[in-house]
Amino acid sequence: MPDHDLDARYLLQTSSEINAEATRTLVVDRRKDEVIYRVKCPVCREAVAAVEYPGGTYRAIAVDDPLGDRDTMITVASEDEVPDRFKAVVPMACGCGSMHPKSPEGTTGCGATWLVPR
Ligand SMILES: [Zn+2]
Ligand SMILES: [Zn+2]
Repeated sequence: MPDHDLDARYLLQTSSEINAEATRTLVVDRRKDEVIYRVKCPVCREAVAAVEYPGGTYRAIAVDDPLGDRDTMITVASEDEVPDRFKAVVPMACGCGSMHPKSPEGTTGCGATWLVPR
């Protein structure tokens, strides 16, 4: 039986419970030029992966602002430029690729976002 809960309503949300559940299922795959973070979406249960390219451009969210306001997101050219307070976590969003009920037009994923430890 597929795990993916396609009936989960789209909702932009995060919480310490969602973060904890994501961390519980986290598998980190460290390769030469990239690091892949795999978790089961805590809300819709689909497998979701985030890829980080050390030395590449990626986004980080401040540790002390887990809701990730736009203002606290940064884009940097290299890991060296990431301020310390951004370094402890990797932000992820549900990227399950499916439309969920109530999702905005053209948006896939269930809306959940979370942080996993590096
Ligand atoms: Zn999801
Ligand atoms: Zn989903």
